[in-house]
Amino acid sequence: MLIVQKYGGTSVGSVERIKAVAQRIAKTASDRSIVVVVSAMGKTTDTLVKLANEISSNSCRREMDMLLSTGEQVTIALMSMALQELGVPAISLTGAQVGIVTEAQHSRARILHIQTERIEEHLQLGEVVVVAGFQGISQTPHQEITTLGRGGSDTSAVALAAALQAERCEIYTDVPGILTTDPRIVPEAQLMSEITCDEMLELASLGAKVLHPRAVEIARNYGIPLVVLSSWSDAPGTRVVSAIPKRPALQDLELTKPVDAIEYDTNQAGISMLRVPDRPGVAAKLFSSIALQKIDVDLIIQSIHESNTNDIAFTVRKDALKQVAAVADAILPALGKNYYPSLGEPEVKTEERPIAKVSLVGAGMIGRPRVAAKMFETLAAAGINMVMISTSEVKVSCVVDAEDCEKAINSLSLAFDVNVADISMSSADLELGEVPSPVRGVALDINQARLAVRQVPDRPGIAAKIFGLLAQQNISVDMIIQSQRCHSVNGSLTRDVAFTVSQPEGEATYQILANAAAKFGWGEVVLESGIAKVSVVGSGMISHSGIAAQMFEALAVSQINILMIATSEIKISCVVKEEDGVKALQAIHKAFGLSGNGVVKVPA
Ligand code: ADP
Ligand code: ASP
Ligand code: MG
Repeated sequence: MLIVQKYGGTSVGSVERIKAVAQRIAKTASDRSIVVVVSAMGKTTDTLVKLANEISSNSCRREMDMLLSTGEQVTIALMSMALQELGVPAISLTGAQVGIVTEAQHSRARILHIQTERIEEHLQLGEVVVVAGFQGISQTPHQEITTLGRGGSDTSAVALAAALQAERCEIYTDVPGILTTDPRIVPEAQLMSEITCDEMLELASLGAKVLHPRAVEIARNYGIPLVVLSSWSDAPGTRVVSAIPKRPALQDLELTKPVDAIEYDTNQAGISMLRVPDRPGVAAKLFSSIALQKIDVDLIIQSIHESNTNDIAFTVRKDALKQVAAVADAILPALGKNYYPSLGEPEVKTEERPIAKVSLVGAGMIGRPRVAAKMFETLAAAGINMVMISTSEVKVSCVVDAEDCEKAINSLSLAFDVNVADISMSSADLELGEVPSPVRGVALDINQARLAVRQVPDRPGIAAKIFGLLAQQNISVDMIIQSQRCHSVNGSLTRDVAFTVSQPEGEATYQILANAAAKFGWGEVVLESGIAKVSVVGSGMISHSGIAAQMFEALAVSQINILMIATSEIKISCVVKEEDGVKALQAIHKAFGLSGNGVVKVPA
């Protein structure tokens, strides 16, 4: 039996820790083969980044990889020595020596394949193989040292487990497993014994750095049993479970098809509330009134505000539309007047035309901005206008006119090479058996910036242009929202489009779009860096009405204003001001009853 074990930075942060981990490995190495993947000791990688910054704020990525990859090499040698000292035969290998072959993209290389022969030879000899995580080597002739992106040792470990067809991959870290949220912010966070890959993908990409999202993607695609546990205890930790995998070939390991299915739902109706006041409690009031009627809401989006008013748009089942419209109408008077009467008063608008939701599904969309851009391009080429857009890590959904649904599915399945068998009506993702709450985890991402593009001409192809331009520069966008409100500019209709990107990419994104404004005919571009995103995730959320209402209420009670809302079937995200982020996370975690009685201690 073969297992891959990965030990993160804190777990190997000192010589004492390395010795303790070696003891642990020695215990299990007696009756099985072990491949150990290690990170750099403690905060070594951060320290190296700082050193480079002292020389240049703009060091070339090749040299950064050369520098950062040294961190892991220290640990492999020391770990191997510690094992040998205990009488356990061991050998350390760098990513290049193992043959972890990656793309030539420095600082964010994806793994193409792993040559397993050398590792297998050593395992045959009864040795523990200690591999440097986070690093690889580009293909011949140059054979450059590459790194996989910060936190990438998890990805090295799971990829090795896939390539070696290991029984299991164990990720040892400084917390007891996957918790309901980050224990550094909420010490009362509770351990989950099990979580689905899709839930974990969302959490990981939304700021829960306990697992690298790409590691989860590989585990999901190849069906690798994955466990996250503490290197300080013998507690069982958290199992990350996947549905039956498709087990793609091991060539191009991290380049598998990004989209594996298309889902559609023609039983939807759209409704929006326009020009509602921009203050805490409005979304809470609306969605709690709807939840009281036991009506499920599917997509929810709230766009950027304009002169202190917001638009909230959402979809419900067709047969609930009338009832929901009545509920929304009934709360209008309670919202009060707007400060700028010239904009018009709050209004409820139902979409007269029947609509359909079409979604691309697949774990490979993370960090691949081209997928969403290509979806928009494909729809535009087919002459289909998008009414709403909503993105998550495992899904991009577009709401289109119902009469365009079939055409949309056909063109998308061609463009993304999706088999007919993988086209289906929307369905629930893998659900766990007994879970106490439909909301499983809460995450905070303070590393985000928000952009708004004003007065975007309302015609097919413009969203494709915007996101295509960004995809060309490899900028990943999240929470794309298209406003429901149309403006008439010189006689033609325009809408606003807003989205979030990671903070370091905010400025570049702004430049690209501002420079292209005149050419493509959109208006002002607005960048706002001080935002945070809080999200709740759970695959049981689909069948529970009122989750969104509960989240919005928790924020309203804390007097936190919601700047943007976007949802998918298993996630609801709200953008709030950066300084409200931590308070928002704590309030939401508490509101869903996720706090336990004990507190999680995180080693310093
Ligand atoms: P390692 O060095 O072992 O890779 P990381 O620091 O990358 O460890 O990840 C572990 C940290 O992730 C924890 O110390 C914790 O603060 C943070 N974290 C954030 N969200 C969660 C969560 N939902 N569950 C567990 N840990 C989380
Ligand atoms: N040492 C690398 C980092 O700090 C990789 C890792 O620890 O996973 O990002
Ligand atoms: Mg990590």
